Amino acid sequence: MSVSELKEKLEQIEREALDEVKQAATSAGLEELRVNYLGQKGALTVVLRGLGLLSKDERPAVGELANRVKERIASELAARKEAIYRSELASKLSGQKIDVTLPGVGHQLGHIHPLTLVSEQIVQIFFGMGFSLAEGPEVETEYYNFDALNTPEHHPARDSQDTFYTDVGRSVLLRSQTSTVQVRVMEKRKPPLRIISPGRVYRNEEINARKFPLFHQAEGLLIDRDVTFGQLKGTLNEFIRLFFGRPLKTRFRPDFFPFTEPSAELDSQCPFCLGEGCRTCGHRGWLELLGCGMVDPNVLEAVGIDPEEWSGFAFGMGIDRLAMLKYGVNDIRHFFSSDLRFLETF
Ligand SMILES: [Zn+2]
Repeated sequence: MSVSELKEKLEQIEREALDEVKQAATSAGLEELRVNYLGQKGALTVVLRGLGLLSKDERPAVGELANRVKERIASELAARKEAIYRSELASKLSGQKIDVTLPGVGHQLGHIHPLTLVSEQIVQIFFGMGFSLAEGPEVETEYYNFDALNTPEHHPARDSQDTFYTDVGRSVLLRSQTSTVQVRVMEKRKPPLRIISPGRVYRNEEINARKFPLFHQAEGLLIDRDVTFGQLKGTLNEFIRLFFGRPLKTRFRPDFFPFTEPSAELDSQCPFCLGEGCRTCGHRGWLELLGCGMVDPNVLEAVGIDPEEWSGFAFGMGIDRLAMLKYGVNDIRHFFSSDLRFLETF
């Protein structure tokens, strides 16, 4: 090919290439053009190879033109590539518009169970009075559930606390009271002691609105020097004031528990009618809240604490019962039904 033919060929390639680049609409189409013109087997490359056939004098002028054409095509390709990228991005963004005014997809949050709530309220009140948390196993031995609590075999108090026994035998059972924790703590720690112990307990009982074979208790124990019944009354009166959010009259009626002497049932004035009588208190004006008493010296002796030096008081309350009274729940079975309509009211 002569010099003029080569120059003409280069100018033709330039015209065609620039025209096609202008019309390219996608990044992929643009890449194809780059390969067709500037690639190893591209039109321009083929022409440049022909330069070797020219004489030394002719080469520079054609070479210069060829380079200029190559740069021109390359720079147009780059400019078009940028323009296509921008328009592709713009159409992508407009197709994915987010309407921030649409309502969101809400996630329903759960909350703690009402019995856990009341259990925590009780524990927090006693924390404030210097008690600390103690926990014990739900599968217990006969010794901790009865014997160590001054309730030997054939003691009539065992009948009222019939529980569930295991395959291991009658000596391994589900605890019928959280009082078991008192004994376990007194065995390990030296007085003075102040503990509060919430947890599940079991009784082999018929199911009705007031009774369920599984329920919850919180047990309190204080052992110190010269503990009086007056201190027990003061502690529990303060608990009732904080739990119901107002001071309420209380009365202590004599009762019997094998591991306390003397023992008492604590009633408080009904927080709903303040003694006038209403449905919650069965029109009596008073609510039975919990059992309490001074720790029986036999219980202290059984764990190696000298009853001449140390004395104390203990109390036990039904968490389910207190939750029912505080929130006006009329059936204990609601707590175990997993019915969201009930649980969501807390
Ligand atoms: Zn009442």
